[in-house]
Amino acid sequence: MSQIKLDDLKERINRFPRQRLISLPTPFLKLKNLSRHLGGPEIYIKRDDLTGLAFGGNKSRKLEFIIADALGQGADAIVTWASLQSNWCTQTAAAAVRFGLKPVLILFRTSDIVPEYDGNLLLDYILAADIRIKEAEKRKVVSEEFARNSFEEVIQELKKGGRTPYAVSVGGSMPGFSMKNPLGAISYVAAFVEMIEQARADRVNITHIVHATGSGATQAGLVVGAKALDEKIQVIGISVSDEKQAFARTVFEICGATQRALAIKSGILKEEIFVFDEYIKNGYGILNREVAEAIRLLFTKESIVLDPVYTGKAMAALIDLVQRGYFKKNDTVVFLHTGGTPALFPYRQMLTQLLEEEKK
Ligand SMILES: *Cc1c(COP(=O)(O)O)cnc(C)c1O
Repeated sequence: MSQIKLDDLKERINRFPRQRLISLPTPFLKLKNLSRHLGGPEIYIKRDDLTGLAFGGNKSRKLEFIIADALGQGADAIVTWASLQSNWCTQTAAAAVRFGLKPVLILFRTSDIVPEYDGNLLLDYILAADIRIKEAEKRKVVSEEFARNSFEEVIQELKKGGRTPYAVSVGGSMPGFSMKNPLGAISYVAAFVEMIEQARADRVNITHIVHATGSGATQAGLVVGAKALDEKIQVIGISVSDEKQAFARTVFEICGATQRALAIKSGILKEEIFVFDEYIKNGYGILNREVAEAIRLLFTKESIVLDPVYTGKAMAALIDLVQRGYFKKNDTVVFLHTGGTPALFPYRQMLTQLLEEEKK
């Protein structure tokens, strides 16, 4: 197998231009109280919610590379899309303004929640991002096919207005439009390297990583990093939107593009992409009792706040996997906290309702 050394992998990542935006490394800590409470494997957390850009999150790692790429292409605007309370869009807008790029956000209404200036949408508003709200199918993440017409229209409009827009698809994951390389995933290969260095320094032998997966680059980057360094770590993506076959295909595709970009040859098999879709439950962005309880559990045991759409679902999944005996007692599981906490506030009604029911 063509495994490579850590310094070599770092050097390959460093060939891609990068703008410093965030504070790294993010903390890597043991969740002592949670591990004891669940009585299963040792659980650690990688706190990518603490990247420091507009409340933090995994998207800010991606944007270090994406903003550098946009500036390299002479762009003066960045245009992307996602759902109304998108962490990706807020993080993109926050990164863009610092480098003088105009943020243009196409926000699709994927839930029946009436748009108010709250959570991420409030942040977008304060940033004075150019916001375009569009209707979309509910309880699902908008696909590229669905978003494409609105997207192309806005790109053309910006060009007519004399702008040079940098266009990037949802989550900064799938290469295409202005982003020719899978920069989002490359940033998560770098995150994997960062975490492995922390784990090695602390003599922690990671066996699994559990995280919320959405547009695919986070999982692809972690899988490529683990494979390249020959670390026997199972990366488990908890889908918050798509069924697992479709999602695993997306991750697999991004893995391939990432390996090509970094000239890594190690073969990744489709069977090595682990996606669980049974925690989506009622759909994208829809809470359930297990999620509300997981959010409360992590906050009360470890003083760490999760979000309702991504990390709350991923933590509910992790708890369920521990309870179902998925892990061995001597495994070490890392929960990757991918951020998203501003979305907690627009969900206050659903969340308090579910926690009230729990009491009865
Ligand atoms: C976008 C997002 C994810 C998923 O990351 P992808 O790289 O899009 O798969 C997970 N958690 C949060 C909080 C996010 O905003």
